[in-house]
Amino acid sequence: MIERVAYLSMHTSPMLQPGVGDAGGLNVYVDELARTMAKRSVNVNVYTRRTDPAQPDHVQVADRYRVHHIQAGPPEPLPVAELPKWIGLYAEGVIRDLRASPPTDVVHSHYWVSGWAGVLAKEALQIPLANSFHTLGRIKDISRRSDEPLSSPMRTLTEEEVIARSDCVIASTPYEFDDLLDHYSASPERLCTSPPGIDHSIFKPGDREAAREWLGLPPGPVVLFAGRIQALKGLDVAIGALARMDQPAQLAIVGGPSGRAGDAEVEHLLALADGLGVSSQVHMIAPQPHAQLALFYQAADVLVMPSRSETFGLVAAEAQACGLPVVASRIGGIPYVVADGESGILVDVGDEPGFAAALDKVVGDPTLRAAMSAAAEIKSGEFNWKATADRLLELYHGITGGDGHPPVSQR
Ligand code: UDP
Repeated sequence: MIERVAYLSMHTSPMLQPGVGDAGGLNVYVDELARTMAKRSVNVNVYTRRTDPAQPDHVQVADRYRVHHIQAGPPEPLPVAELPKWIGLYAEGVIRDLRASPPTDVVHSHYWVSGWAGVLAKEALQIPLANSFHTLGRIKDISRRSDEPLSSPMRTLTEEEVIARSDCVIASTPYEFDDLLDHYSASPERLCTSPPGIDHSIFKPGDREAAREWLGLPPGPVVLFAGRIQALKGLDVAIGALARMDQPAQLAIVGGPSGRAGDAEVEHLLALADGLGVSSQVHMIAPQPHAQLALFYQAADVLVMPSRSETFGLVAAEAQACGLPVVASRIGGIPYVVADGESGILVDVGDEPGFAAALDKVVGDPTLRAAMSAAAEIKSGEFNWKATADRLLELYHGITGGDGHPPVSQR
């Protein structure tokens, strides 16, 4: 029986607002999973790096769910590129706390920096290690925008090492599973697939007109984007598509700057919209508390996800749960989340005319939109946190079973 797990999330805390900076799907994943595991009587200790001197050593977020702030490097937000030099200290802090606590059954690390700390903890304490990458450097590099740098060799080599030294690597879709095989030569018996979930008590269909009124959205069709603003997310493609659309749509962008370029990407997007003559149709909206996003999904006509790379795409899954059709890139895990031609339309990465045509089609045809909305809600039923927690508990059992491997390799 799994009684106690440690979740390592060095580079970002599950307590942060998602949709800005380094906080996004990973934060939602760790938080939702921790809450669901805690409700299953598992004690969850999440270890993150202290980014503010005022942060207490730990915060009891919910019954059996605690977040620890580990002192590793200056107590201030740091770019991910600065973190590798502090991984050793972070791992030391985690190991110290795990040693002083009742026995922990499994360490589950998230992202490559924590993956390395997980390897150090596993080797120091002989605790089985599962790792979820959430994003893989080599995969992100394949379709990156031309002005974006490649992932550092430090990252990709660390990913290789974490894959080789974990007891299990958890892919969120069969596509990520294949990426781990094809681009990292992972051994298949160490891999399994477990998709994230959706909180269906929050993300569900609602009264569209009431949501629009409450949010004060302008009249006319609304194309919604939600998430971190960076080149990877392809908002430049969304703005290019908006300028090509026949329908007079508004583009609502909910989220904030993220990653290396930060505010410069937002400025680039605003200048692009200006140059294309669609500034008045582009609305930048500050990041919203997670539950509040449901109102935006309920109010919009279609979600656009023009990502250049996307391991899963929680936003697409949440939107569908609210009955919102999705127009998204055919990349990464998106085809696993969005049923092409049923719950949405998939378009080649960067294909602005293709995105414009697909958005026009959904926005301009109420019958099609209603059919896609119904299909979206059905598709979203495939994802829920209880099922994710059950699968992971089974997996944790497998790696604590003595042979150091999950029971079966499951695509
Ligand atoms: N999100 C949010 N508020 C915002 C924007 C985004 O809570 O203003 C959440 C969103 O609900 C989703 C996550 O951030 O759960 C983004 O996850 P996704 O997988 O789409 O992208 P990632 O950040 O992992 O690249």
